[in-house]
Amino acid sequence: MATGEHESDVVIVGAGCFGLSTAYHLLKRGYTKVTVLDRSPVLPAPEAASTDINKIVRSSYADIFYSKFTREALVEWKNTSEWEHCYHESGVLVLLTGEGSYGDLAFENDRALGVRTAHLPAGSTTLVPSDPSSPRLSSVVQNLLKDKSGYINQDAGWVHSSRAVELLLDKVKKLGGTIVPGKTVARLSKDSSGKTAGVKCADGSEYIAECVVLAAGAWTASAFPELKLEESCVATAQVVGKIQLTPEEGEAYRSNPVYLDLDSGFYMFPPNDENIVKCAIHAAGFTHRPDPTSASTPVFPISSSHSDDKDTSKGHFETAVPKAALEELRTGLTSTFPALANKPWAGTRMCWYTDSADEDWVIGFHPRDAGVVLATAGSGHALKFLPIIGRLMADAIEGKMPEELVKRFAFDRAQNDVPVSRPGKQQRKLNLDDLVTTD
Ligand SMILES: Cc1cc2nc3c(=O)[nH]c(=O)nc-3n(C[C@H](O)[C@H](O)[C@H](O)COP(=O)(O)OP(=O)(O)OC[C@H]3O[C@@H](n4cnc5c(N)ncnc54)[C@H](O)[C@@H]3O)c2cc1C
Repeated sequence: MATGEHESDVVIVGAGCFGLSTAYHLLKRGYTKVTVLDRSPVLPAPEAASTDINKIVRSSYADIFYSKFTREALVEWKNTSEWEHCYHESGVLVLLTGEGSYGDLAFENDRALGVRTAHLPAGSTTLVPSDPSSPRLSSVVQNLLKDKSGYINQDAGWVHSSRAVELLLDKVKKLGGTIVPGKTVARLSKDSSGKTAGVKCADGSEYIAECVVLAAGAWTASAFPELKLEESCVATAQVVGKIQLTPEEGEAYRSNPVYLDLDSGFYMFPPNDENIVKCAIHAAGFTHRPDPTSASTPVFPISSSHSDDKDTSKGHFETAVPKAALEELRTGLTSTFPALANKPWAGTRMCWYTDSADEDWVIGFHPRDAGVVLATAGSGHALKFLPIIGRLMADAIEGKMPEELVKRFAFDRAQNDVPVSRPGKQQRKLNLDDLVTTD
């Protein structure tokens, strides 16, 4: 080997949810030479989608495949010897918006799988509306159901995703994996037949491997343009706002479920241990194409205010965001949690999804390069599967993935005919001149 060359069985680009979970499952299967490279000098990478104060864990999917997969993930999350207390079983209140809607299909799937659910018609005041002696809903939840119906998925909640990523970094290291922060992969290196045989990094170092797993999240399509992923793995900025509650407000909101309106896309978490609530709108998001023919690329305009004093290891990372999106967030907040409507934003962020059109992930060998495995297109919903999603990638690498999943996750598939959570929503262009941190 030449100086600066390193040899592995598998090199994984990206230490987020997809990359780390792949490494973990390969190592558990007995692989010994697994290397994970990440561009960020600090891990968990502050800019990664996986790095955050919280992410929803819900089996409430209109596609029962993901409902069942969440049920498997939940078994792992509840194992506190592996995942500490990252998982908080707050319940998730899903709005019901009519037969055939995403929420209603999700309710059917949850019930079919025996998930603990409580159906709550508009105006409900107790958990079992027909039984006034059943637990009383908080005044906040009663207000959410004032003129809307919903259901609480009681076998659901949220995870402290940054902490979970930290734990997984440790697990990978303990199993003998190598993790190299501060390594930006600049390109794929090829053997004489044109097959990928490793990666070249921006600093000139080279990693040779039988198999290269691309798990670079929202960067994947723009970082490897020769793979032509620009249509199947689109980077979309999603706007998140955080509000600091007082200790008294924290107590008042603590026992609330995650609120999720899959029709409007608006959702809000109960307070975390810092009494911060986070809200966002699960929508088509914003794309950033510096050159109109290129792939959408994430960009992180630094917040002019409130970013510096926050501890990024807890998942705080802040940026300026499109003004229009922040206004939409404020409108969503005002109509759902009016008591918080006038509180200032304690932080804002553009967090980048990697979207496929049908919201199924992209996992498997690249059809024209037997040295590359794709592991991406989380489409805004992959973090809840952190403990188990790597099983799919390990199966793909070993040729053990069931045929129906090979087809479902193939990058060159025709769009899968599955219910999507953001039907008909259109991506908007990111205008870097129209960014703010407060409204
Ligand atoms: C606002 C928001 C809310 C979400 N809410 C939920 C939720 O409630 N529930 C849920 O389950 N999921 C949720 N998700 C989705 C979930 O976070 C993602 O699907 C998941 O984290 C994606 O993981 P990843 O590994 O693909 O990407 P990332 O976590 O972004 O990791 C990619 C890594 O690749 C590295 N990288 C990039 N380019 C290079 C390069 N050239 N060389 C080396 N390294 C590189 C980056 O530094 C990064 O660490 C949400 C996402 C966002 C943005």
